Amino acid sequence: MRPNTPRQQAGTARLSRLWLLLVSIVAALLATPPANADPDDFGATYYIACGYYNGTSDEHTSCASLQNNVWFAGRPATFGNQWSGIDTAVQQSLSGDYNPTHLVAYWTTTDNYPDVWFWDYTYWAYEDRFAWTDCPASNTGVGYYTPLPGGWATRWCRGQIIRFNWAAVVTWAGMGLIDISGSGQGRPLDEFSAYAACHEMGHTLGLQHNTYPGCINYEYAGLELEGYDDGYNPNLTDHERGHINARY
Ligand SMILES: [Zn+2]
Repeated sequence: MRPNTPRQQAGTARLSRLWLLLVSIVAALLATPPANADPDDFGATYYIACGYYNGTSDEHTSCASLQNNVWFAGRPATFGNQWSGIDTAVQQSLSGDYNPTHLVAYWTTTDNYPDVWFWDYTYWAYEDRFAWTDCPASNTGVGYYTPLPGGWATRWCRGQIIRFNWAAVVTWAGMGLIDISGSGQGRPLDEFSAYAACHEMGHTLGLQHNTYPGCINYEYAGLELEGYDDGYNPNLTDHERGHINARY
């Protein structure tokens, strides 16, 4: 109704200001996530052609999948022959990043049913991918924490594989981003290896790429390359440790 007295007009103006304030508050709440927002960055990554379904270990069949118990045993398959030092980096990350969580994370050369097998290759077909994971046909167990449909993110796989790709390192070394020859140009190889080891093992446990300043975030790879260059941290942050401790 149109106000027709000064008193009514003043009242309407107060009401308008109140509405404006309320609308502004709601808009601000919608536009800005809370400071402690916890994006959904835990669980298996979904791929239609995941190795879990088609029984192959090829690239593009990778599944970032969950383990299903606190024992986290890593075992070398053919490992450390292409990417110098990656085997040491993996063992250090197991003991330095993952064992301090609720997991009992360890290296083994005798367990025939480890949680993760490690390989390294020089795959020129994928020269921009430093590593990937899959749930291969040789897995010793797969399943879901919650039933499908909708439970794919809770998929777990025992006997996963992590493949590290030396071709990516050589490619980035050629661009001056990683120092593999002692030239002093680029991120020292052992530092990048530490990052890569922590990053990839996180995927096998269900950690997805996030925006926290640690090894799961590409931006903290410490390479002077767009998307990889916000900083350098080869370790987990409290955020990822919290996810692991909540799940395992
Ligand atoms: Zn990744």
